[in-house]
Amino acid sequence: MSELANNTIANSPARAIVIGGSIAGLLAARVLLDRFAEVILIEKDDVTELQKARPGVVQSQHVHVLLTQGQRLLEQLFPGLAQELSAAGAPTVEWTADWLMLGRSKWNPRCPSDLSGRTCSRTLLEGLIRQRLSAYPNLTMLTGCQVKGLLSAKAPTRVTGVKLHWHSPNASEVDSLNAALVVDASGRNSALPDYLVEMGCEAPPETKINAFLGYASRWYQRPENLEVDWQGITIAAVEGVSSRGGVLYPIEGDRWIVTLGGIGRDYPPTDEAGFLEFARSLRVPILYDLLKDAQPLSPIYSYRRTENRWRHYEQLKSLPDGIVAVGDAVCTFNPVYGQGMTTAALGAIALDRCLQQAHPTKLNGFPLRFHRQLARILQAPWLMATGEDSRWSTTEGAKPRWSDRFVQKYVDRVFLLMQDSPVISRAFAEVIHMVKPPTALFAPNILLQVLKSYSKQGLTGAKLAK
Ligand SMILES: Cc1cc2nc3c(=O)[nH]c(=O)nc-3n(C[C@H](O)[C@H](O)[C@H](O)COP(=O)(O)OP(=O)(O)OC[C@H]3O[C@@H](n4cnc5c(N)ncnc54)[C@H](O)[C@@H]3O)c2cc1C
Repeated sequence: MSELANNTIANSPARAIVIGGSIAGLLAARVLLDRFAEVILIEKDDVTELQKARPGVVQSQHVHVLLTQGQRLLEQLFPGLAQELSAAGAPTVEWTADWLMLGRSKWNPRCPSDLSGRTCSRTLLEGLIRQRLSAYPNLTMLTGCQVKGLLSAKAPTRVTGVKLHWHSPNASEVDSLNAALVVDASGRNSALPDYLVEMGCEAPPETKINAFLGYASRWYQRPENLEVDWQGITIAAVEGVSSRGGVLYPIEGDRWIVTLGGIGRDYPPTDEAGFLEFARSLRVPILYDLLKDAQPLSPIYSYRRTENRWRHYEQLKSLPDGIVAVGDAVCTFNPVYGQGMTTAALGAIALDRCLQQAHPTKLNGFPLRFHRQLARILQAPWLMATGEDSRWSTTEGAKPRWSDRFVQKYVDRVFLLMQDSPVISRAFAEVIHMVKPPTALFAPNILLQVLKSYSKQGLTGAKLAK
């Protein structure tokens, strides 16, 4: 802070600024620290306490699954993080063995795999990452400080820094900062499209696909005397059967977060009786049976802004130099697929790779090059999320093509077959955990079983279990 007041760091040519100190911003900062002499991360919330929920990340009250691929990438960026999560009490979960997952008509087989991870609260994960970053001498975190606009220069148009507005009581007098590169990680409400228009540039086109999923979540103490052979439960909504689902997710401190969800505006209630009744109405009442006598630790939190939204920066003919966006500021997914944090980690690694190919002081044309690479990464999680969402007639914005319908029918068969096949079940989990691409579901051994099932039951004959 005193450094800022003296403005000694304000003139550094090799400085990067990150807007937003949530997962995407923290991970971007981590890779920028290896490439820039100095990194300044600016977060509007006060984040002095390690594990406190804050207004900028209201989603932290809901289940936050860190997929196996995300866990692996975070370990790459912060070696030893998994151990730190364990030390803080986060359970270790082998996803295919320790989880009860209700398939189309029965529980999926439980089988060993190398798909393991830590389950924890979103606040713990973010807090530990922030703690690790604070050890870097070339990082400054400004909290209680909001970016209110971009500094720019013309001929050619480029971003040269940010304008600041301080909330915190010990506010600095500095009201703007220069940087060679600004990374916008300010989440789904990112103002970057507006800033671009103000600078006389084009805003990115957007694709929005909304399944109108609503969440209601409550935290519980895990009952002390509960003796079960599983760690968590997922009951998915199934198109044509039930628009309702739920997840019981174990976290540090022997607690559970239980998130209930309804698709197509079938929103779960936030009063106690309604919440439990919704749990009872799921395809099986196991969550209700567990929750009715469990001790709640929180109010019931609601969340409804769950649409898939992609701002296509990669489609712009030009982007000013000096600015890129990452994380939810570029693409948000229906959260039920748990892809946001893992995709943010993939984005950070892509940023690192692109920066390796460019010198930090010569970043001409860098933003568009980065966004084109990022778009390739976003393709698979986007297709998985929107392909599933487009099954519902209540979903808006999706125009499934015949090829999408074909893939949905194929995946329906895979869903059915995996209920009796640990091999297919494991392969499916690898795709869901983003360890393998969706094309892995078309591997010869799976394709063969799907074709066999067609030849036994006909193309349309096999009734999907309801
Ligand atoms: C209900 C819900 C459940 C989810 N569940 C999962 C899950 O199970 N698994 C998963 O991987 N992902 C999940 N996600 C997605 C995940 O939360 C995000 O993808 C992830 O947090 C990355 O987001 P982000 O860092 O880009 O943005 P955000 O998390 O939205 O953070 C943006 C940050 O920028 C700050 N900020 C905003 N504007 C400014 C400004 N002008 N100046 C300074 N700071 C600013 C905010 O305070 C905030 O800290 C879920 C999302 C929701 C909504």
